[in-house]
Amino acid sequence: MEETVNLDRRATVDGIATWVARRAWPPRCLLCGAPGTPGRDLCAGCRADLTVNRCACPRCALPLEAPAPACGECLASEPPFTATWAPFRYAHPLDLLEARFKFHADLAAGRVLASLMVDRLAADAPARPQLIVPVPLHRTRLGQRGYNQALELARPLARASGIALRHDLLRRVRATPAQTGLDAAARRKNLRAAFELAPDARLPAHVALLDDVMTTGATLREAAWVLRRHGVARVDAWVLARAPAR
Ligand SMILES: [Zn+2]
Ligand SMILES: [Zn+2]
Repeated sequence: MEETVNLDRRATVDGIATWVARRAWPPRCLLCGAPGTPGRDLCAGCRADLTVNRCACPRCALPLEAPAPACGECLASEPPFTATWAPFRYAHPLDLLEARFKFHADLAAGRVLASLMVDRLAADAPARPQLIVPVPLHRTRLGQRGYNQALELARPLARASGIALRHDLLRRVRATPAQTGLDAAARRKNLRAAFELAPDARLPAHVALLDDVMTTGATLREAAWVLRRHGVARVDAWVLARAPAR
């Protein structure tokens, strides 16, 4: 009882703080400085500049010129996930917000990106998983960055959709060097045995792995294999943005 009262009080204080902040600092576009749209630090013009990933491979969300049941890469090497939901393409100006969020600890940019993802979730209505699992960072990287960008995106999505979220089941047990600059084969090798499930992890039949950006898909493939080997019948990948083919 005591705990409920305290939580309620804290929720009210948070509500007041948010209300005061909104009055004192009306939303302003993080990209161009123009007035934002209600409750979001992004203007309508910059929102319209983001590239929605309309035509894409259903398996891995790779942007395609024309609709197809799968892209060449998925035909050559079947991915461990059934479907990928990637509402945006990784392109300008989303890349600017992502860089601020991921590399410059700009959590306001993270909030904008999460809210865009929540909007598209309602519009795209991807198959509904029973659980969202954000792709974990190794504790060394987490210590350096201070937050896991995948978890920061997953929280608002889970709240908005009512889908359960667990960030303590999948662990990154090997500190892999940064993937940037590596080709697909090197990325796969780099990630071998990078993930492990908690020994007592109990997973439902349908899980969505969530990450911020899918570049080659090597990280998500590796993490998805771990879940599949554990008996998860269907793994989907959910990412904010998908990079086009190089
Ligand atoms: Zn703007
Ligand atoms: Zn594909």
